[in-house]
Amino acid sequence: MEYRSAVDEIRFHLRHGGGFARVGRTERFAGATEDVVEAVLQGAARLCDGVLAPLNRVGDLHPARLENGTVRTPPGFAEGFRAIAGGGWIGLSADPAHGGQGLPLTVETAVNEMMAGACMALQLNPLLTQGQIAALEHHAEPRIRSLYLPKLVSGEWSGTMNLTEPQAGSDLGALRTRAERAADGAYRITGQKIFITWGDSDFMANTCHLVLARLPGAPAGTRGISLFLVPKFIPDAAGRPGRPNSLRVAGLEHKMGIHGAPTCVMDYDAATGWLIGAENGGMAAMFTMMNAARLAVGVQGVGIAEAALQKAEAYAAGRIQQGPILRHPDVRRMLACARAELFAARAIALDCAAALDLARAEGPDVHAAKAAFLTPVAKSFGTEVGLRVCETAMQVFGGAGYVEQTGIAQHYRDVRITAIYEGTNGIQAMDLVGRKLADGGEAAFRLIEEVEAEAEAARSALPDMAGPVWAAAESLREATEELLSRTAAERSAGAHPFLMAFARVLGAGSHLRAARADAARAPMARVYVGRLLPLHAAHLAEVRAGPDDLEAVRIGPEAP
Ligand SMILES: Cc1cc2nc3c(=O)[nH]c(=O)nc-3n(C[C@H](O)[C@H](O)[C@H](O)COP(=O)(O)OP(=O)(O)OC[C@H]3O[C@@H](n4cnc5c(N)ncnc54)[C@H](O)[C@@H]3O)c2cc1C
Repeated sequence: MEYRSAVDEIRFHLRHGGGFARVGRTERFAGATEDVVEAVLQGAARLCDGVLAPLNRVGDLHPARLENGTVRTPPGFAEGFRAIAGGGWIGLSADPAHGGQGLPLTVETAVNEMMAGACMALQLNPLLTQGQIAALEHHAEPRIRSLYLPKLVSGEWSGTMNLTEPQAGSDLGALRTRAERAADGAYRITGQKIFITWGDSDFMANTCHLVLARLPGAPAGTRGISLFLVPKFIPDAAGRPGRPNSLRVAGLEHKMGIHGAPTCVMDYDAATGWLIGAENGGMAAMFTMMNAARLAVGVQGVGIAEAALQKAEAYAAGRIQQGPILRHPDVRRMLACARAELFAARAIALDCAAALDLARAEGPDVHAAKAAFLTPVAKSFGTEVGLRVCETAMQVFGGAGYVEQTGIAQHYRDVRITAIYEGTNGIQAMDLVGRKLADGGEAAFRLIEEVEAEAEAARSALPDMAGPVWAAAESLREATEELLSRTAAERSAGAHPFLMAFARVLGAGSHLRAARADAARAPMARVYVGRLLPLHAAHLAEVRAGPDDLEAVRIGPEAP
């Protein structure tokens, strides 16, 4: 079964989902007409289905490797990357002033899903570059912007994100990489970063690293971190990659999945870098990149889920065990629930992207708060759905899924990292119940009201679904109010189930909206509302359980 980008599904979400119709009506995105968006989706599908998808298995079988200090990429990846760059797919939403196409981020997000479903290992390269473009657009000084952005947008150069160190994973405040001011106005960066995705390759003229480091005397923790742009080759006066910088790839990781993507240990030895944003203000600048990447990683979960589910649906139609297995209720249950969850995850991701577009087009106020709230939800729920759908797809394949030839095992291995990197899903949930509720729940309540409005609108046409959706939204409101009055420890214990409950309720709103727009969507909405939405109640019970039972239990090596 060959991968087919889910153009019809994506088009439906863009037409009938929450925010995108409004994005197209703004002055800023007036160019994103239906015809333009359709042409973009069709062009992206040709790239993904015809060029990138065939590389997926090649990357798995021929992992990136380090040869005399040079990263060698899998056969065909260089050509695949050139097709991505040449088609202008990296800079879809980037500023036209630097060669970007200025299209809505929602369209870029849809295309990213297609690319991730086709070949996630390769897609990680443009994903990180897109994040770097966003960070430089917002925080770099004009000289850096005009030098670097056109190269990054065109794909001549690529961008990476260097946060993690052996002792500093989720806790970035513990990072030790040092930066010192130099006489020439630049900085010298020294230290080791680990797990750096696409830290180098054999097909890129230059690789530009955004590196978090500490200046002498900087405050402890995250308030003492600065951000630096550290290119592999220091550009000369004409902007060509000039002399090599003092950095190197010290090793590559052997991983469970995404074999085609090099995951590098990077050594910086007084490497030359330029400050991005303010001294000690590195986290704010890096958050621009991280937020872009968090949404994009959520969408990787959606893309891989789509790819795995397509395979499972086709297999179930052809596999005969007392008739096609597709006719067995248990197999139908697995496939229908997977489709319904995938629909919800895609809706949340595209709604988050649309809110970001509206914040850019109409001003930040309400839209920015909505996007900020939805970002950890889109990241965590998208990747959890990715994991679950791959697991389901393997179950549908039976033993054939556990052997490598069918490709399900690779999806299962590849998707696993999405719940871990870009801030683990646990960290996303902590962000949701901490920073994202710091407005007294305003953004949360507004989203809950959107779902309730959906339920009200569906009350006469779809009463069997409208009632449960409205009730679920109300119970989420009560739980949110309760959570707001809890201590930080109590909130943390309920963080992950709270995020999942929120996502389930939002997903129900999107299904209801779809069923109102198109009666043919009602059966899938019924599967979601009847079988998956009720899980929100279990999640909320866990939210209310608090931390005491967890504290009382003895875990592993803990002393009695
Ligand atoms: C393939 C791959 C690619 C990667 N690419 C990049 C990259 O390009 N750039 C980069 O900088 N990094 C990258 N990373 C690193 C990745 O972002 C980290 O692995 C991730 O942030 C988690 O950090 P950690 O592995 O140190 O886990 P830890 O921080 O040790 O976490 C372990 C567990 O403890 C939990 N935990 C930790 N702290 C808390 C807390 N305060 N509250 C609740 N739970 C907590 C976590 O949720 C997790 O379940 C990559 C990693 C991999 C494996």
